[in-house]
Amino acid sequence: MRLFLSLPWKILGLLSAFFLLVSVLITNSWINKNDQDFLALQKQLRDQDQRQLQVIDELLRNRVESWFEAFVHFQKNYGNNIEASAFFLGNEYEFLQLHWQINNLWLFDSQQKLYFSSNPQVPGELLSDVMQTFQQQRSQANVRCHPVCEQFFSIPLLLNQGEIAVLAVSNSLQETLAALNRATGADMAVLKMAGGQWSETPAKTLKIQPPLASTQQQLIDSLFTRMKSDTSVADVIRQGIRIENNQHAFLINMLPLEKSVQSSHFLIFIHDITESSQLHIAFQTKILWVSVTVICLSFIAFFVLTQRLQRRLLSITRSLPLLAEKRYSEFRQHQYISSYLFADEIDNLQESATLLSTELESLDNQIEHNTRELENIAMYDRLCGLPNRNMLNHLLKAAIAGLARNNKQLAVMFLDFDNFRKINDSHGHNIGDSFLIEAARRIKETIRDSDFACRFGGDEFVVVLQHQESQQGVTQVADKLLKRFHKPLHIVGQRFYVTTSIGIVITDNPQEQVEDLIRQADMAMYTSKDLGGDRYSLFTPEMYQRVIGRVQIENEMREAIDNNEICFALQPQIEISTGKLVGFEALIRWRHPQKGLIPPDEFIPVLENSENMIQLGYWGLKRAFTILSTMEELGFKNQRIAVNLSAVQLLDPNLLPFLKQQLIDFNRDGSQIELELTERTVVADIDTTLSIMAQLKQLGFTFSIDDFGTGYSSLAYLKQMPVNIIKIDRSFVSGMTENRADMQIVSSTIAMVQKLGMKVVAEGVETTAQLRMLQDMQCEIGQGYFISKPIMEYELYDLLPEKIKNGIWNNMDKL
Ligand code: C2E
Ligand code: CA
Ligand code: CA
Repeated sequence: MRLFLSLPWKILGLLSAFFLLVSVLITNSWINKNDQDFLALQKQLRDQDQRQLQVIDELLRNRVESWFEAFVHFQKNYGNNIEASAFFLGNEYEFLQLHWQINNLWLFDSQQKLYFSSNPQVPGELLSDVMQTFQQQRSQANVRCHPVCEQFFSIPLLLNQGEIAVLAVSNSLQETLAALNRATGADMAVLKMAGGQWSETPAKTLKIQPPLASTQQQLIDSLFTRMKSDTSVADVIRQGIRIENNQHAFLINMLPLEKSVQSSHFLIFIHDITESSQLHIAFQTKILWVSVTVICLSFIAFFVLTQRLQRRLLSITRSLPLLAEKRYSEFRQHQYISSYLFADEIDNLQESATLLSTELESLDNQIEHNTRELENIAMYDRLCGLPNRNMLNHLLKAAIAGLARNNKQLAVMFLDFDNFRKINDSHGHNIGDSFLIEAARRIKETIRDSDFACRFGGDEFVVVLQHQESQQGVTQVADKLLKRFHKPLHIVGQRFYVTTSIGIVITDNPQEQVEDLIRQADMAMYTSKDLGGDRYSLFTPEMYQRVIGRVQIENEMREAIDNNEICFALQPQIEISTGKLVGFEALIRWRHPQKGLIPPDEFIPVLENSENMIQLGYWGLKRAFTILSTMEELGFKNQRIAVNLSAVQLLDPNLLPFLKQQLIDFNRDGSQIELELTERTVVADIDTTLSIMAQLKQLGFTFSIDDFGTGYSSLAYLKQMPVNIIKIDRSFVSGMTENRADMQIVSSTIAMVQKLGMKVVAEGVETTAQLRMLQDMQCEIGQGYFISKPIMEYELYDLLPEKIKNGIWNNMDKL
């Protein structure tokens, strides 16, 4: 985690560094400048010292020269020759010593011979001065310290007859020093170097030459003790040296006294520069103070200036996390600090942030909305609003898990409409959709709130019942659902009758898998369908076997037709009152090469709604025509064959052209073919059915309603149809003799049907008693094992002559 340093502090830091740098630079350059000024001042002093020395030196020399020239001039009166001069000098020597501070006098004649001297000792270097004076005819001046420093002048003197003599004079330095002291204001002394080079000799080793005042002596001593040992004589000559002593500042300048290259005697000037030095320091201190003050003031000014900026920035910074927390309105209500006069970037930032919050909020809402929609798409069926398959998985999983917590059971019902496809195919998808919406509503209404229904896909729904105590409770709900759909559905002014097939699986096992339960309920649902629909079935493990069988059947059926494995069995129908043969019902059979004879119950429901069923149907219709022709050839004319027509077949657009073609091919009308339709087939899509029936009727075909009593048993709609025959279901006939209710159903149905001008066929007549009872009820036609079991087509033709005598079937008139 990095350390946090707020922006204003960072800026402050940067600016401080900048200010510091700038002020250090400025201060430094000022101080430098000041130092240089100070150095320049020192140099000026040095130059001045040097100049003064020269000037005074020059002055003194000129004075001496003038004096002696004047002296020579005046003594002409006494004879201007060398003797006179010597005489005069001897006389005046004391005067000269006293008033002119002359130490010694030497007079050389034109032969450079010492003619007169105040001191017989002539310093060696003086002779070379004298020689030079003779040669150059110009006076020479030099300082020599043997041992006391003196000024030596050699002056040429013009005597009589152009004779030249040279006067050498030694002069004390006192006067020069006094003059210099007056001119420069510096304390002065003469120093002696013991030997060696200027550049190698430390200046502090120089010795003071007497005479000197004791105060001066003390000052010089204390200054020299403070002098650094590495400061050489050459250094001091070149640039002087500054030394602080007793709160005084001194500048020491040094000039060589002797003209020779390596003078060993020096004149030092000690300037008291305390005042200028103090000024210098005071100035520098002032600069430093100014600089520090400027920095401090800038900091304060900056701090004050940025304080508000900082507060404004902080206020934004503190409010920004609200965006992350999606507290948009709070973010916008946040009170920002705005600038006093002019808007600036921070104001822009605030505006942008506010805009951003609005934008973000709307985006967020959009996302939320979209997510909800996606969830709905993902979890709910868009058409009927029930949870969809995904949601079912989710809910069911939770419900199964819930079994671990209670001792209850859970039921999964798989619900499928028996004839939805017809509605969709013949009325279009809009009606189909409306149907599903209404169906979903009915399902939802039927179940409790704790249960839930889902649309599984197409016309399939899954209902999950939770917290069930017994199987009975579950089947009661299933019954309720079945009954709920017995009432017709009204969609855009039309009535639709549908039945439902329900498969149920019940479990109390919390380990159960969702997929398994649904598959099992689905299988049970197919069992209901196989049993004719409009019922529920409870799942049994054997159903797995059937499913496997179904798949095989579907795969094998197409080849079965081509391989002549399919054939008809024909069951006779007789007029009960006379025993006369009325016709045959053609019942399909599959002679499977491996499985043997497969009854239609095992493959018709499997093929229902499939393309194979239609193929099979066309095969059957054509076969019926063939059978009629064959029987005719055998002499059994005007027979009638009832063919069972599946729902998909009736609605197949090819049915009409196909049958027309058969009529042409077999050269007959449709009157000998009776088409058997179940109630369910008819009611599912009554308008289309009616129109098809009308067209078929035109071709001569007749219709019967099969299995009457098991479906809607509504005679009302039968009135609208061109139906000739009603076939009372076998279940009523078989129960009729023992069960009064069944008997009443049969008798009232017969009565009503006859009133509508139709005939009744009683199916499944198995006993004499049944036949007698039917006869009493004036039921016209009977069909059943008692009369004859269905006879395979290939056996029938041989049997016909034996069975039919004078149109009576198998002596049935004898009863
Ligand atoms: P269904 O149309 O009700 O046919 C009558 C069924 O009752 C036949 O069974 C017949 O053998 C049986 N039956 C007749 N008399 C008696 C009797 O006295 N007692 C008993 N217990 N049964 C009797 P099958 O042949 O097994 O046919 C079953 C169903 O298969 C038929 O019921 C029909 O719905 C369907 N089916 C048969 N052939 C065809 C066909 O060619 N096309 C279509 N679409 N369905 C067919
Ligand atoms: Ca039938
Ligand atoms: Ca039947």
